[in-house]
Amino acid sequence: TLILGLESSCDETAAALVDSERRILAHRVAGQEAEHSPYGGVVPEIAARAHVDRLAPIVEAVLADAGVTLAEVDAIAATAGPGLIGGVMVGLVTGKALAHAAGKPLIAVNHLEGHALSPRLADASLEFPYLLLLVSGGHCQLLLVRGVGDYRRLATTIDDAAGEAFDKTAKLLGLGYPGGPAVERVAKDGDPAAVPLPRPLVGSAEPHFSFAGLKSAVARAAASSAHSIPDLAASFQQAVVDCLVDRSRIALAVCPEATAFVVAGGVAANGAIRAALTDLAARFDKAFIAPPLWLCTDNGAMIAWAGAERFAAGLTDPLDAPARPRWPLDPAAETVRGAGV
Ligand code: ATP
Ligand code: MG
Ligand code: FE
Repeated sequence: TLILGLESSCDETAAALVDSERRILAHRVAGQEAEHSPYGGVVPEIAARAHVDRLAPIVEAVLADAGVTLAEVDAIAATAGPGLIGGVMVGLVTGKALAHAAGKPLIAVNHLEGHALSPRLADASLEFPYLLLLVSGGHCQLLLVRGVGDYRRLATTIDDAAGEAFDKTAKLLGLGYPGGPAVERVAKDGDPAAVPLPRPLVGSAEPHFSFAGLKSAVARAAASSAHSIPDLAASFQQAVVDCLVDRSRIALAVCPEATAFVVAGGVAANGAIRAALTDLAARFDKAFIAPPLWLCTDNGAMIAWAGAERFAAGLTDPLDAPARPRWPLDPAAETVRGAGV
């Protein structure tokens, strides 16, 4: 089975062709650094317009790279949310048009399910249920992934996402956008113990996250002391590592049924975080699985793969499937606890 996947929910325009045997026939990602960097962050309207300009050529390029025609594709998967609604609509409408024109089924993919299932694209041995730390630009959650479309959320952030904390910290340290890779690069030359910073919620009984106070503490330390930028970056990164490890430890303790401990989302590209989580998984005798770096940040292959998993489960969507700015993986957790936690 061959699936074409489209992604446009934030600032990556991406498409890929992936088959049910986990072969990635072609994939392309176009970032928008040049467009957004003057503003220090993603400007939604600029992002949506860039997706309009780029998505169709990228789809054509991916088909050409693989030497495949639309007629040979079995289904079209497109991100239908959550994300910046203008960009989501560009990708979803493009997916619908392709599906309609080629007479193929549409699969409306939850972008978070794309991240959540991406480790199974990279590693055929990964079986349900697994404990997932989803760390991205907009989310920081611990989820028990029980199957396709079947998620139990154990924890979430009460304020900022981990990636958001990296991006805001990069901005205040003058490292620019996108922030995560910039902080990681600069942190390599710093001392992670140089600047005393808080570890919000560490030690609390439920494995929730909080990063807003950490970012403010970095701002205060940067303003009031003579710490170097590398020391500030390294100390910030270490604080995030400590929070992620401590919170994941609580979740691992209550999920003995998990076959593996898995990390996904853009922040999972961070080397210090991957190393610390590897050690944590070993302490619990769990396999640790993280996708390759390019599959952590937004891409079309994870959307095509989520599409392949849904297609195999008989899950396709009508052509009037809605674009959804908010779309939790575990809706039950949201109603029990409210929007934040
Ligand atoms: P979401 O998936 O929640 O909708 P998103 O799609 O914008 O948000 P991703 O593309 O999954 O997020 O991840 C982007 C985030 O990952 C950004 O916040 C970025 O700073 C962060 N990031 C990317 N690489 C690294 C890295 N090496 N270290 C830390 N953070 C990183
Ligand atoms: Mg991005
Ligand atoms: Fe993402």
